Amino acid sequence: MPGPALILHGGAGARRGRDYGSETAHMREVVREMAARLADGAAALDVVVEAIVMLEDSGLYVAGRGASPNLAGEYELDASLMDGATRRAGAVAAFQGYRNPVRAARAVMDHSPHVLLAGSGASAFAAEHGLNAITDAGAWFTRAGQGEDNHPPGQGRTAALSHGTVGCCVLDRAGRLAAGTSTGGVFGKLPGRVGDTPLPGAGVWATDRVAVSCTGQGEYFIRTNAAAGVDWRVASGQSLTEATAATIAEIGALGGDGGLIALDAHGHRADPFNSQGMKRAWLTPDGEVGVDVFGR
Ligand code: ASP
Repeated sequence: MPGPALILHGGAGARRGRDYGSETAHMREVVREMAARLADGAAALDVVVEAIVMLEDSGLYVAGRGASPNLAGEYELDASLMDGATRRAGAVAAFQGYRNPVRAARAVMDHSPHVLLAGSGASAFAAEHGLNAITDAGAWFTRAGQGEDNHPPGQGRTAALSHGTVGCCVLDRAGRLAAGTSTGGVFGKLPGRVGDTPLPGAGVWATDRVAVSCTGQGEYFIRTNAAAGVDWRVASGQSLTEATAATIAEIGALGGDGGLIALDAHGHRADPFNSQGMKRAWLTPDGEVGVDVFGR
């Protein structure tokens, strides 16, 4: 059995010329904390949630606290989780009013017969399950992606979709895989717009073969069923590197940009992207920690 492994991302919206020192230091800290949890025998699904909570709460990425508002000035967030061993999944979409969308996704998975709750129903469910409400949105949200947003004000409907997200894939000591993704969505989005992030198959996927979390222009990841596509390519005999590269190439061929992170059951990782950069960090089965933004 390979040692535990993890890979996380802080979004594929990274722009050359911007300093990502705070993000890389933070991602390294998250990986180190999660490495200790995995060494203690923590389950992949729990570690995915804990890592994403740290990323959401940091306010450094376009997810959780770092999200930006939609064109109506509202913060509508998406998040999802999937457990490879059981194929259980949970997700929230266009979710408002609570600090950690990934915790709401976990509550949907654990405490409802459903996979995805959206809008006011998701918020009511979060309230029933005692999640942390945001009392002052103006003070809570940091709009972390401002330097990554290339929309001229008011051009959100027509400009290219700039974006940011967080995600995590984990292989635990027992050989279980899990994945999760959380986002504020693309900048300048219309009210009610839902991207790939909360959709198992598109923005997140986990089986006993692979765990995948995507980031990028979600519309393209939906149209290619990107995250599950990696799994099907691996099942048909491709290596993880080949399968993930083919998935990003398919998105690029349609005109989309972004990237994804993936782990397989042997602890191999892949992190291709066709955008300028993708913030990411990892733990190898040998216990090495790495972090990168622009390299490939
Ligand atoms: N995929 C996300 C979305 O379309 C954004 C991102 O990953 O940066 O909502």
